[in-house]
Amino acid sequence: MKVLEIKDLVVNYGKVTALKGISLDVHEGELVAVIGSNGAGKTTTMNTISGLLSAASGDVLLHGKSISKIPAHAVAALGISHVPEGRKVFASMSVKDNLLLGAYLRVRKGEKKQVMSDIDHIYTIFPRLKERQNQQSGTLSGGEQQMLALGRALVSKPKLLLLDEPSMGLAPVIIDEVFKLIESIKQRGDMTIFLVEQLAYRALEVANRAYVVEQGRISLTGTGKELITNPDVRKAYLGAGKS
Ligand code: ATP
Repeated sequence: MKVLEIKDLVVNYGKVTALKGISLDVHEGELVAVIGSNGAGKTTTMNTISGLLSAASGDVLLHGKSISKIPAHAVAALGISHVPEGRKVFASMSVKDNLLLGAYLRVRKGEKKQVMSDIDHIYTIFPRLKERQNQQSGTLSGGEQQMLALGRALVSKPKLLLLDEPSMGLAPVIIDEVFKLIESIKQRGDMTIFLVEQLAYRALEVANRAYVVEQGRISLTGTGKELITNPDVRKAYLGAGKS
């Protein structure tokens, strides 16, 4: 079953056309990645799905229903959780409050007990967050903030998890940890993930399927394995991406 479907999406910034007709889909339980160079249109795609940008034409469907005219807060309420580029945790709030904020809608639905047990689960995956649960989030390292941003998205129990450049600004050892976590979420099989990532090798390794975006258009698609061995992809994206 298709969780996400993007049809012929065109997005402009004033006179600049950033997306020139992107179509892709993500099925239930899949991890689908989009790779591409700087400025190819990855973040624009992500922000249009989550309702932060609106499309000039084309459509975004969640479980077959159009969400392209819906504002960001309402898209989140439909079960799309977006971990934006550059993380953006609430710096003055504690680690624990950031996590609780992620689960806000579930708490309102009366799932507080389950939420607390999910937060405990996040703490077992990231013991450093537990150690720092009462600390202001702005004082965490970049890697810890990325973990927190991921944790906050996970406790919201999304139908679709959007990850925008989770490697951004992180040291290679921390990137290893972040991708280990993404792999473990994928292995659990109960979440559908759409990942945008400039480190093509990392993304293709973990993805079931992937799309290559170039200058606002999809140029290639295939399984992660197919693209990792594709000579054009290797030449254009994997030389520098294998960090
Ligand atoms: P990066 O990895 O550098 O974030 P990206 O693939 O995510 O790249 P986008 O950020 O989606 O690319 O940008 C796509 C195109 O839209 C680029 O040409 C970029 O210059 C342009 N663009 C992005 N944001 C804006 C904006 N706010 N105003 C005008 N043009 C923009």
